[in-house]
Amino acid sequence: MKKHNFYAGPSILSEFAIKNTAEAVLNFEGSGLSILEISHRSKEFIAVMSEAQKLVKELLDVPAGYEVLFLGGGASMQFAMVPYNLLKTKAAYLDTGSWAAKAIKEAKFFGETVVVASSKADNYTYIPKGYEVPSDADYFHYTSNNTIFGTEVKSDPEVGVPLVADMSSDIFSRPVDVSKYALIYGGAQKNLGPSGTAFVIVKEDLLGKVDRPIPTMLDYRTHIASESMFNTPPCAPIYTSLQTLKWYKQLGGISAIEKLKKQKSDLLYGEIDRNSLFRGTVANAEDRSDMNITFVMSEEYKEKEADFLALASQKGIVGIKGHRSVGGFRASVYNAMPIESVQVLVDAMKEFEKSI
Ligand SMILES: *Cc1c(COP(=O)(O)O)cnc(C)c1O
Repeated sequence: MKKHNFYAGPSILSEFAIKNTAEAVLNFEGSGLSILEISHRSKEFIAVMSEAQKLVKELLDVPAGYEVLFLGGGASMQFAMVPYNLLKTKAAYLDTGSWAAKAIKEAKFFGETVVVASSKADNYTYIPKGYEVPSDADYFHYTSNNTIFGTEVKSDPEVGVPLVADMSSDIFSRPVDVSKYALIYGGAQKNLGPSGTAFVIVKEDLLGKVDRPIPTMLDYRTHIASESMFNTPPCAPIYTSLQTLKWYKQLGGISAIEKLKKQKSDLLYGEIDRNSLFRGTVANAEDRSDMNITFVMSEEYKEKEADFLALASQKGIVGIKGHRSVGGFRASVYNAMPIESVQVLVDAMKEFEKSI
């Protein structure tokens, strides 16, 4: 039986992406070679890279002047590459979770790093609002979706300086006005492909403004000049990412995906709010993530957590144990997750309620 995969990352991929990748591992587009062994300089792979870049631009309506890159090192490497390339004197950061805090730590190596607001004291259960971003900041960095804590910034902030966002876990789930951004990045392994590559969308004319020397591999301009092929790229993860992008286009693009996403998150939040055995960890509805849905057993049923996990497991549900810093449960309902799997989880919650 195929499992209902609620893992936070690496995470569920569409059947379309998995099947096409499986075929390409055996015989990549009739070349008689595997995607795992073909040269990244072959015309076949160059076509994969350029189509993936083109589809990112198409799906997100990326304006002229921006480049799309697929790099190694994951989102975590971007925590350092961003300030290395963009921080001249001062950068502003919003502290909304563990990933945001990691990005802040790296920025401090490169210059003044202003944390404009933080929800850390409340274990990151909400998104701070009403903060002020210094008008002389080189950029404002935020994490659009806090994968661990289940909060999400669902619209592009208006702050008067160029935006930089870690969109690892909600890219392609809502429309984004890319023109407001200096840079958007994320690891592939949530809404795009397997682990091994990170996507970067960068505004080219904001580069080359810092005085410090930048090592070749950490300079975005290196990768722009060589079409993400300065060194050997993660070919297979990029191939799978291309399949996801094609599937997104077939589904009808971002607005169609956004509708499906809403149906799934409404279904699960509806049950969490209705079922007295459970409680959402994010109280403010507008801050609730549509991608990573975090909840716990209500106070009086605390000791039943393991029993619910056992029932869920019987139903073929995997990956709903919460991150250790939050506890309880986390259901990651990324774009590739069918609503049927969310329904299986909701039915398990109802069945559990009846059994108590
Ligand atoms: C998963 C995740 C990361 C880390 O990604 P890596 O590719 O493992 O470095 C960073 N930020 C967010 C928001 C994430 O969800």
